[in-house]
Amino acid sequence: MLPITILEALHQARQDIDDIDARMLLQDVLSVNGAYLIAHSGQELTPGQVKSFRLLAMRRAQGEPVAYLIGKREFYSLDFTVTPEVLIPRPETELLVDLALAQFPLDLACKVLDLGTGSGAIALTIARHRPLAHITAVDVSAEAVAVARLNAAQLNVANVRIIEADWFEALGGERFDLIVSNPPYVAEGTAYLSRGDLRFEPRIALCAGGDGLDCIRSIIASVPGYLNDGGALLLEHGYDQAQTCRDLLSEAGFGGIFSCPDLAGIMRVSGGRLGVS
Ligand code: GLN
Repeated sequence: MLPITILEALHQARQDIDDIDARMLLQDVLSVNGAYLIAHSGQELTPGQVKSFRLLAMRRAQGEPVAYLIGKREFYSLDFTVTPEVLIPRPETELLVDLALAQFPLDLACKVLDLGTGSGAIALTIARHRPLAHITAVDVSAEAVAVARLNAAQLNVANVRIIEADWFEALGGERFDLIVSNPPYVAEGTAYLSRGDLRFEPRIALCAGGDGLDCIRSIIASVPGYLNDGGALLLEHGYDQAQTCRDLLSEAGFGGIFSCPDLAGIMRVSGGRLGVS
């Protein structure tokens, strides 16, 4: 095998995959950052590095998500380990974290619950920004719980308790000041599920019944039993679900109900406070 440089390897890979993906994969093979690839573009790769890179590029060309190939994804400027057992954290979910952090100041020992935590992206990010908060994160998947615990250790987060449970089942009579969730909310059987990364993600983390609202309906119906008076609920939802979420929140006794658009201008998070008119 003739020696090739970083630049040549990227050039070759670009015939099959996006430049940005090729760079992410090569950074992972070489354990370097993006700036290194630019600054050392003339560096020759070892045969082992070329082999590893070509294998990853081939898998990417066949559709596998970059995040699963390199085993990580950045979320809110933190590196999260991800495996095919958890949803890949999305940029739009950073809005949910922004809104959660706006709910309580740095010096308040707030009790927070994250339902369906997956990789732990939401719970652990809130924990990093609110070290005094007591956070509980639950997920029904044992594999997801293992990934979330690994992320807690890697991010040095000690104020999150991660529990394997079906929604509220393990919480007894405990009440929280803030409940957040990015539940499954995609309608079963939509063509959207056969596109891009979604084909490789766990269905249990994506789909929730014929209209995608099964989990949202059940969370909103149960949440009043687990929120302190005046406590807030924030839910991520699908592009066309904001109005239904607001109606469900209103029926469940929430006030101050709102929806907030993500950076693409799509209504993405809705919420309200219990017992506030
Ligand atoms: N936001 C994801 C998507 O539409 C869906 C994640 C979810 O169902 N919570 O790709």
